[in-house]
Amino acid sequence: MSSMSSTHEVLNQVPPLAGHDTSADPALIEGVEREGAGWALDEIRAVGRLAGTDEAMDWGRLAERVPPRLHTHDRYGRRVDEVEYVPAYHQLMQTAVAHGIHAAPWADDRPGAHVARAAKFYAWNVDAGHGCPISMTYAVVPALRANPELAARFEPLLTNREYDFGLRDPETKRGLIAGMSMTEKQGGSDVRANTTTATPVAGEPGAYRIVGHKWFTSAPMSDMFLTLAQAPGGLSCFLLPRVLPGGEANPIRFMRLKDKLGNKSNASSEIEYDGALGWLVGDEGKGVKTIVEMVNMTRLDCVIGSASGMRTALVQAAHHARHRAAFGKLLIDQPLMRNVLSDLAIESEAATTAMMRLAGANDRAIHGDAGEAALRRLALAATKYYVCKRGPVLANEALECLGGNGYIEDFDLARIYRELPLLSIWEGSGNVAALDALRAIGREPASLDAFFAEAELAVGADPRYDDALTSLKKELTQPYDVVDIELRARRLVEQIAVVFQAGLLIRHASPAVADAFCASRLARDWGSAFGTLPAGLDLAPILERTEPGF
Ligand SMILES: Cc1cc2nc3c(=O)[nH]c(=O)nc-3n(C[C@H](O)[C@H](O)[C@H](O)COP(=O)(O)OP(=O)(O)OC[C@H]3O[C@@H](n4cnc5c(N)ncnc54)[C@H](O)[C@@H]3O)c2cc1C
Repeated sequence: MSSMSSTHEVLNQVPPLAGHDTSADPALIEGVEREGAGWALDEIRAVGRLAGTDEAMDWGRLAERVPPRLHTHDRYGRRVDEVEYVPAYHQLMQTAVAHGIHAAPWADDRPGAHVARAAKFYAWNVDAGHGCPISMTYAVVPALRANPELAARFEPLLTNREYDFGLRDPETKRGLIAGMSMTEKQGGSDVRANTTTATPVAGEPGAYRIVGHKWFTSAPMSDMFLTLAQAPGGLSCFLLPRVLPGGEANPIRFMRLKDKLGNKSNASSEIEYDGALGWLVGDEGKGVKTIVEMVNMTRLDCVIGSASGMRTALVQAAHHARHRAAFGKLLIDQPLMRNVLSDLAIESEAATTAMMRLAGANDRAIHGDAGEAALRRLALAATKYYVCKRGPVLANEALECLGGNGYIEDFDLARIYRELPLLSIWEGSGNVAALDALRAIGREPASLDAFFAEAELAVGADPRYDDALTSLKKELTQPYDVVDIELRARRLVEQIAVVFQAGLLIRHASPAVADAFCASRLARDWGSAFGTLPAGLDLAPILERTEPGF
C-alpha cells in the first residue's frame, strides 16, 4: 500500500444510517394501534421505509441545498410572480400527496384516518420545508367548510392524491395545494391589527376585492390561500385562488422571498394583493373564528413535526454512539453518554406519546366527540407550547453527541437543529401558545375538566405523579389575579404539558421510561441540561428503544 493511500484510511467513522424504516418507533406504532389506526400500519410502514432510503433522503438534502427562486417578471418585463423549485422539491411534494399526507383524510370517513395521516407525517421526516404546504393543505379543509359551496368545488381537488404543479385555473387541475396568509408587518400574533381591506364586488354575492399586503406567506405557489382582511363587517376570512376561473392571474404580487435560518426548501414570501378577487368563507366579521378551524390542525402538525424531528435527531445520535469509540469503549457504553441518550430518549418518547394521544383526540373530535374536542382544546395548546420548546434544546444536545460532525452540513443534525425553532414560532409563538392554554381554562372550563379526567386515569401507579397532579389541580382551581397568572403562564402550562406526558407514559410506555420521566421531570431530580438523570434508573430498556428498526 502506498503512503498516499494510507493517509486516507478511514477509521472509527460511523456507517451511514440508511435503509431503515423511520416508522419503526415503538412509541409511534403503539400509539397508532391505541388510537384506532392499526388498519393503516402497512401504509405507515411504506412511508417509513421510503423515508429511510438514500433516494428520499437525497431529495430532502437537495431541496434544502438549492432553495426556491423567485421570478417576479418574465424576460420581457411582464409580471409572472412565480417561484421555481428544484425537481427534488416536486418529488417530495408528489410523494407526500400520493401517500395522502396532505388533505386526504378529509375524504376518508374511517375512524383513525387522521391518526394514520399524523403517523405518516411523522414518519416522512426527510424534509421539513415541503411539510409546510402539505400541512396547510390538510388544515385548510375544515375552515373552508364554513362555505359549503366553495368546499363542494375545491375539497375533492384538495383531497385528491395527485400533485399537479403549475399556474392554471384550479378547477382544471387534478389536485390542489393551499396556503394561508395572515401575518402582516404590524401584527402576526395579533391578527386583529390586520389592515388589508376587502370590498364587496357589486352584483357578485360573496366576492370581494382584496387590497393590502402580507408579511409572511409560505408556499406562495399554492393554488389558493385562506387570508384575513377587514371587510365592512370586520375581520373576515377569504379564499383567494392564484388563477381565476377562466385562467386569468389573480393580482397577487410576490415582493420577495425571505432569507431564513432554516426551512430553506420552502419559499416564504412577502406578498401584496392588488385588488385580488377573494370569496368570503364564513360570516363577515368572523374571520378569526373561521380560521381557528385551520389553526387547530396546523398546531397539531407543529407538535407532530417537533416530535418527528426529536426522534430523528435521537436516532441519529444513538446510531453514532453505537458505532463510534472513544477512550477505549463505544460511546454508547460510556456511562455519561448513556445518561445523555436516555434523557433525550425519554423526552422524545414523551413528545411522541403525547402527539399520538392528541392525534387520536383530533380524529375523534372531527367525528363529533365533544369530550375529545374539549381535551384537544387545552392539551393541544399546552403541548404545542411545551414540545415545540423542547425540540430545539433536544436537537442541540443530539447534535453534540456526534461531536464535530454534528456541526457539519453533510450530517442531517445541523438541518434538524435549524428547523425546530420554527415550529415554536409559527401557529402561536411560545407566549401566545401559553396564553392560549390559559384562555382555554378561563373561557372553556370543559377543556380543563377533560384534561383532569384524562390525567386521573394514571393515578395510583406512581406517587410522584399523584403529587404533581394534586399540586397542579390546586394551582389551576384557586382564585387568581389576571396579570399575575399571565406572568406565570409558561410555568403553569409547562406543568400541564408535563403532567399530560407523564400520565400517558405511566399508562402506555415501558416502566423504565415512565420511571425515568417521573424521577426527573416530576420529582425534579434533574439538572438544567440533558444528561442529568439521577443514578439508579434502568437505562438499558430505554436505550433499546432508540435502535432504528426496533
Ligand atoms: C419561516 C416562516 C414562515 C411563515 N409562514 C407564514 C405563512 O405562511 N402565513 C402566515 O400567515 N404567517 C406565516 N409566518 C408568520 C408567523 O406565523 C408569525 O411570525 C408568528 O405568528 C408571530 O407573529 P409576528 O412575527 O408578527 O410576531 P409578534 O406577534 O410581534 O410576536 C413577537 C413576540 O411577542 C410575543 N407576544 C405576542 N403577544 C404577546 C402577549 N400578549 N404577551 C406576551 N408575549 C406576546 C410572541 O410570542 C413573540 O415572541 C411565518 C413565519 C416564519 C418565520
